[in-house]
Amino acid sequence: MKTYDHFIDGNWVKPATGEYFNTENPYLGKVWAKIARGNAEDADKAVKSAKAAFEGEWGSMTATNRGKLMVRLAGIIEREAARLGELEVRDNGKLIAEMGAQTKYLAEWYRYFGGLADKVEGSVLPSDKPGIFNFTRHEPLGVVAMITAWNSPLLLLAWKLAPALAAGNTAVVKPSEFTSASSLEFMELIKEAGIPDGVVNCISGFGAEVGQALVDHPDVAKVAFTGSDVAGQRIYESAAKKIMPVTLELGGKSPNIVFEDANFEAAVMGAISGIFAATGQTCIAGSRLLVQRSIHDKFVKRLVEVAEKAKIGDPMSTETHVGPVTTRPQFEKVLGYINVAKEDGAICVLGGKPYTGEGAKGGQFIEPTIFTGVSNDMRIAQEEVFGPVLSVIPFDTEEEAISIGNDIIYGLAAGVWTSDIGRALRMSEKLRAGTVWVNTYRAVSFMSPFGGYKRSGQGRESGQESIKEFLQTKSVWIAQETTTANPFIMR
Ligand code: NAD
Repeated sequence: MKTYDHFIDGNWVKPATGEYFNTENPYLGKVWAKIARGNAEDADKAVKSAKAAFEGEWGSMTATNRGKLMVRLAGIIEREAARLGELEVRDNGKLIAEMGAQTKYLAEWYRYFGGLADKVEGSVLPSDKPGIFNFTRHEPLGVVAMITAWNSPLLLLAWKLAPALAAGNTAVVKPSEFTSASSLEFMELIKEAGIPDGVVNCISGFGAEVGQALVDHPDVAKVAFTGSDVAGQRIYESAAKKIMPVTLELGGKSPNIVFEDANFEAAVMGAISGIFAATGQTCIAGSRLLVQRSIHDKFVKRLVEVAEKAKIGDPMSTETHVGPVTTRPQFEKVLGYINVAKEDGAICVLGGKPYTGEGAKGGQFIEPTIFTGVSNDMRIAQEEVFGPVLSVIPFDTEEEAISIGNDIIYGLAAGVWTSDIGRALRMSEKLRAGTVWVNTYRAVSFMSPFGGYKRSGQGRESGQESIKEFLQTKSVWIAQETTTANPFIMR
C-alpha cells in the first residue's frame, strides 16, 4: 500500500502527529493508499517554507524565467498525463475517457499563464501634479493557500496555481481529504521542472484540522478555494477577520433550458451531458432541465431512452458512461435527495436507486435518475445534489424560462438550446450566471474566465484577467524636484 507524506520545501515530510488516514478507490470500494493527516503545525511549516521561497530565489526571479519554468512544467505534464489520469480515476472514480484527456489539457494552463508571466504591465499615468512622475506596478500577494474539492483535483489546482505562479506568488496546496494523491504526486513534476523548493508545497488532511489553520495563518495572503458554499462562506468569514482577499468557486444548480426550436437530438445529448457526465459530480451540472411545454413529453421520452442505455461500471473502461459516486457521504447525500424529491411529489421516471448490477463491483453507484413534475420551489430544484439526478421543469415562454432559470441562490452556469440567434443573445444577457452556453454544455478553457454569480462564488479563474486575482497594484510617485511647499496641505 502506498503512503503519502506532506510535500514541504521540496521534501516529503511526515505529519507532525504521525497519523495517516485511508483513501479509497470508489469503484472497488477498497483502501489503496494512506495519506498524511495534517494539522496546524504542518500548515505552519508549509507556510514558512512558501514565505521563505517568496522572499528568496522565486521573489527575485524575473517573470520571464518564471514563465520558462512553467512552460517546462507543461511539457512534463503532457509526458505524465496518462499516469496522472489513471491516478485521478483510482482516487475519485471519474471516467478515464474524460480524465485522460483532462490531465493532458492541464498543461495548457501552465503554458498559457507561463507565457503571460512577463506580459503583466504597469502604466505610466498622466499626472495633474506638476513635477511628479506617477506609475503603477502589479506585485504578487505572497503566500497563497489553495484549497480544492474532490471532483477534479488537478484541474481545480491548475486554475489557481498557474496564474498564481505566473504572478510571482508561492503556494501551499491543500487538496480534498477524499482525493489527495494526485496533487501530492504532482509535486514531483514541479520539482522536476526546476521550480525552486518551497515555491509550491502540498499538505493533506481535513478541512477543520489543517484547511482552517491555513486560512487563519497570519502569513497567508490569499485563499483560492473550490468547494461547497458552506465551507466557502466559513472561509470568507475567516478571511474577513484578516482583511484577506479570496477567490471562491462554489456550488451551482444550473438551468439547462431547451426551447421548442432547438435541434432536438443535440439538445437531448446536451441535457445528458449536463447531468450524467462525471456522474453529475460537477459544479456546473445542468441539474435543472427546463423544457418548453410543447416538446416536454417527447423530450423526456427520448431523454429516458438515451439515459437508460448508459453503461454503468468500471471508470477505467473507455466503454463506461457513468462511474461511481466518489465518496460514501456523497452517495448517502444523493440517495437522501432522491427520497426528498419523492416525498415532495416529484415523479421518478428513471432510476431513483443504487445501481447494484453486474458493473457495480464493490463501488457506490446510483442509477441515472430523472424526475418530472418538478416545480422550481421544491428542494430537489433548489439545492445542489452533486450526483446523477435531473429535475425536469416545464415552461411556456421565454420570460418564464428566464424567471425560473434565475430563481435560485446560485449563478454558476446556464445552458440554452435554440436555433434563434436573437433568443440566444437575449437569454445570454438575461441569465444571471458566470457562464452561459448556447447549443453546447460543459465547455471550459484556460482562455475563458470561469466563476460564479450570487452564491456560486467570488472572483474568476482562467482567462487573462484572472492573473489579476493574484496581484495587487502599487502606485509609485516620484518627485522630479524637491519642494518645501506647505507640508500641512495635501498636494
Ligand atoms: P467541501 O467544501 O466539503 O471541501 C472542499 C475543500 O475545502 C476540501 O479540501 C476540504 O478539506 C476543505 N475545507 C472544508 N472546510 C474547510 C474550512 N473550514 N477551512 C478550510 N478548508 C476547508 O467541498 P467538496 O465536497 O470537496 O466539493 C464539492 C463542492 O465543490 C460542491 O459544492 C461543488 O459544486 C463545488 N465545486 C465547485 C467548483 C467551481 O469551480 N465552482 C468546482 C468543483 C466543485
